[in-house]
Amino acid sequence: MGEFELINHYFAAAPCAQGGEGVALGIGDDCALLDLPPGEQLAVSTDTLVAGVHFPAVCDPLLLGQRSLAVAASDLAAMGATAIGFTLALTLPDVGPEWLEAYANGLSRMAHRCRMSLIGGDTTRGPLSITVTVFGRVPVGQALRRSGARPGDLLCVGGSLGKAAGALPLVLGERQAPAEQAKPLLRHYWAPMPQLTLGTWLRGRATAALDISDGLLADCGHIAKASGVAIEVNLAQVPVSADVEALLGREAALQAALSGGDDYVLAFTLPREALAPLTSLGFIEVHVIGRVVEGQGVTLRDARGRDITPAQRGYQHFRETP
Ligand code: ADP
Ligand code: MG
Repeated sequence: MGEFELINHYFAAAPCAQGGEGVALGIGDDCALLDLPPGEQLAVSTDTLVAGVHFPAVCDPLLLGQRSLAVAASDLAAMGATAIGFTLALTLPDVGPEWLEAYANGLSRMAHRCRMSLIGGDTTRGPLSITVTVFGRVPVGQALRRSGARPGDLLCVGGSLGKAAGALPLVLGERQAPAEQAKPLLRHYWAPMPQLTLGTWLRGRATAALDISDGLLADCGHIAKASGVAIEVNLAQVPVSADVEALLGREAALQAALSGGDDYVLAFTLPREALAPLTSLGFIEVHVIGRVVEGQGVTLRDARGRDITPAQRGYQHFRETP
C-alpha cells in the first residue's frame, strides 16, 4: 500500500477525521484551516512517543492510539484550553493493515472522548515513532500558566496519583497481577483521560496549573520556579492510588504517587475562596495537598511538619549522571 492510499484509508476516513467545531478544512490540502472565535487565542502543544522509550515496542495498537492522543491532549487541559483538533506525524516500520486499523480506532476513541478532530499529519517510513500536535482555544489572557501561584494559595490535584508508575511493571511484563487488580491500572496507563473539563473550569480561577507528567514533586517544582514561590506538599494529604497500594504496598505506592511520571492529572494552585465552588460542583475530584508560601523550591512534609523531601524527584531525559 502506498503512502497516499494508507493516509486515505486509515486516517482521512477515520471517524475522528470527519471535521468538527472549529475545523474549517481538514485532511487533504497542504494545510488544515482552523476557525478561532474573536477574543480567543490558539493553544498548541506537541508530544512525541518513541517505541521502546515511551511505550513497549510490542503493544496493542488500539491502546497505543488512545494513549498517543491522550498524553498530548492533557497539555490542553493543563492550559485551560478547549480542544479543537490534532495532527499526527507517524513514522512507521512495515506494519500490517490490522495494526493501522486498530491504531486509527484507538485514536478515534480518544478523539471522541476529548471532542477533537484529526486535521492532518505526515507519514514516513522508519522505526515506530508518533508525534501528536494538539490545537485548542482559550479566551485571551485566561490560559492557565505555571507562573501565577501566590503565597497563601492552596495546592490541589485533580485525582489520585501513582497509577501510571504502578502500572509500568505490568505494562513491561515484569510483574503479573490478578485481572481485577491489573485492569484499572492498565486502563489508566493506556487511556489516561485528559482533565479538559477541570481545566476549563479552572480558567480565571486557578493561579497556576500543569499536568503531572514528570512526577508530583518535580512538576510542583516547575510551578514554584515559574511563579517565584515555594510549595509545601503534605504527605498525609497526597491521594495515593488504592489500586497501586494493593498491588505494590504502601511504600512503593507512595513513591509512585510522589515521583512517578505519566499520571496526567492536573496540579494547580487555587486561592482559598475558589475551593468551595469547585468541590461543590460534585463531579470533579479534587484534593488539597499543600500550599504556596514565600521562598523557593518544593518541600515535602510529614504529618508532624518535618521536612522529608527526597533527593530524587522525577524522571528526566538527558539527566546528567551525578
Ligand atoms: P504534503 O506533501 O503537502 O506535506 P502529504 O502528502 O504529506 O502532504 O499529506 C497529504 C495530506 O494528508 C495532508 O493534508 C496531510 O496533513 C495528511 N496526512 C498525512 N499523513 C497523515 C496522517 N498520518 N494522519 C493524518 N493526516 C495525514
Ligand atoms: Mg508531508
